[in-house]
Amino acid sequence: MNPPVRLKIVQAGEPVLRQIGRRLTPEEIALPAIQELIEHMRDTMRDAPGVGLAAPQVGLPIQLAVVEDRAEYLNGIAPELLAERERQPVPFLVLINPDIVEYSEETVEFFEGCLSVAGFSALVKRSRRVRVEYLDEYGQPQQIQASGWFARILQHEIDHLNGRLYIDRMETRSFTSLDNMGRHWKDLPVESVRTALGLG
Ligand code: ZN
Repeated sequence: MNPPVRLKIVQAGEPVLRQIGRRLTPEEIALPAIQELIEHMRDTMRDAPGVGLAAPQVGLPIQLAVVEDRAEYLNGIAPELLAERERQPVPFLVLINPDIVEYSEETVEFFEGCLSVAGFSALVKRSRRVRVEYLDEYGQPQQIQASGWFARILQHEIDHLNGRLYIDRMETRSFTSLDNMGRHWKDLPVESVRTALGLG
């Protein structure tokens, strides 16, 4: 095993975060450079730690993202909060050229953050369920039906591959530093947050 590699995660304002990623061919996916990049992105995501990382976040405008929500990340979170968010562990997954082919009309709203908007969070409405078609790390076509937090992670990462950040979709009045999030908002139901912020 090679020692973990930590790539530099770029922050909002870096032009690459606003570019539409180029799609990869199955031949490119098989190249050692892409296979190594996948490993390095996995190591970087785990080190951060984060539940997803898209290639533009490490400076590369290509349609490649990794996701993983490890059981150990859920340990410190109250069971009611996990249930409300429909958050369960997600195994490590590589998404190449992903397309969301179905969105549920039903949406859910929670605080969301991003490694490229470090130190902040905001309420973001997302579809509760999505269906995604993509290529895996072997260039094989796959599809996933996801709901709850997993569906949110997929929507967030696929946005990155299309030059979008959660701040484009957030409820702007809810934007908060993580510090203040911990102090004022973290344990409140979303309804109470909305009321406190005058969002009705
Ligand atoms: Zn992000």
